[in-house]
Amino acid sequence: MSRTRSHEIFQRALQLMPGGVNSPARAFGGVGGEPLVFERGEGAYLIDVDGNRYIDYIGSWGPMILGHGNEQVRAAIHAAVDQGTSFGAPTERENTLAELIIELVPSVEKVRLVNSGTEATMSAIRVARGFTGRNKIIKFAGNYHGHVDSLLVAAGSAAATLGVPNSPGVTPGTTADTIVLPYNDPAALAAVFEQHGDDLACVIFEPIVGNMGTVIPKPEFLAAIRELCTKHGAVMLMDEVMTGFRVALGGAQQLFGVTPDLTTMGKIVGGGLPIAAYGGRADIMNHVLPAGQVFQAGTLSGNPLATAAGIATLSILKETNPYPRLEQLGERLMTGLAKAAADAGAPYSVARVGSMATLFFGAGTVVDWDTAEKSDTERYADFFWGLIDRGVYFPCSQFEALFISVTHTDEDIDTTIAAARASLQA
Ligand SMILES: *Cc1c(COP(=O)(O)O)cnc(C)c1O
Repeated sequence: MSRTRSHEIFQRALQLMPGGVNSPARAFGGVGGEPLVFERGEGAYLIDVDGNRYIDYIGSWGPMILGHGNEQVRAAIHAAVDQGTSFGAPTERENTLAELIIELVPSVEKVRLVNSGTEATMSAIRVARGFTGRNKIIKFAGNYHGHVDSLLVAAGSAAATLGVPNSPGVTPGTTADTIVLPYNDPAALAAVFEQHGDDLACVIFEPIVGNMGTVIPKPEFLAAIRELCTKHGAVMLMDEVMTGFRVALGGAQQLFGVTPDLTTMGKIVGGGLPIAAYGGRADIMNHVLPAGQVFQAGTLSGNPLATAAGIATLSILKETNPYPRLEQLGERLMTGLAKAAADAGAPYSVARVGSMATLFFGAGTVVDWDTAEKSDTERYADFFWGLIDRGVYFPCSQFEALFISVTHTDEDIDTTIAAARASLQA
């Protein structure tokens, strides 16, 4: 399988962009070697510039739950393009997308559209601080919420993969009000609330972690966040940028029956175009300018193309309810991968919720960053390249979740398992 064109293009990219990429997770830092350069996507497949075909399990890191090139989404974007690509003024599509989000996500009463998950979390934290009049925030080690300065501590996959858990350029002052705690540890959380309860603006967390590999929350951990936030008047800020519309139509909050005060969404909500959102309780969201005083704005926010893609994607998910099918595919894949790993004598553990999952190499169940970090990343890198050679494109880091789309077939899954088996035994 030739990778000549990919190599040539990436060599040129290295001269043009830092590390040759526009986002570090793409650079294969976690597995070594050079990234593939892609030309197009078709359903569950990606085709690189050398004409190689891969079954895609990255799905643009989450958004492509309908697979690449869904016809209805494409038609919606085409229709929007013909009417004009940006006005910087209200459009009816913004209402339609907001209505869909409010209808589908249980806790959201009012919503603001932004352009990226990073913007959503940055803004939601500002609103939580503006609403409570408090400064301190809690985040969890290994949770990633975008490249917001105050959140770039112990920030999971891309940062950890590249060995920079704490970025230069983020001043100590910026992170001074950020308290980092271990995930899945209700006692540690309670202790901090005991000490700082009156100064805490919010707790931001991934309700299922995707950014240190898939890590499942203990029910008592989620319950503790809810209880302590309510008791101390802090905002429970659930970051559903990855899990929203992925693990259930109403996200992890619907799946687990936990009601946050604010929610951030991204990835699927834009159907592959740059859009994200934050929303929640109306009494909190009414603090956002111009209803309230908390400043947040965006020239391209609520963009016609992006809202068109988002509306089409959420409408399809609502009409077709693909979640039972995604659950079947996820179960088939991870059962097969677990068996392949066991047969190869590789210590492993599997974590999965519906169509997001991780096969961890190494001993023990992963519950937090300390246990995730013990994974055998070299074994993962070998596994990854063995899959590439067999036409399967997996996440290029042990610490990233894989995603399945509705266009994956049982046959694709079985081909993947066979490739994994061959790769593990090579
Ligand atoms: C991807 C992600 C973000 C950041 O979103 P961007 O659109 O990349 O800025 C934030 N939070 C979580 C949980 C994510 O998975």
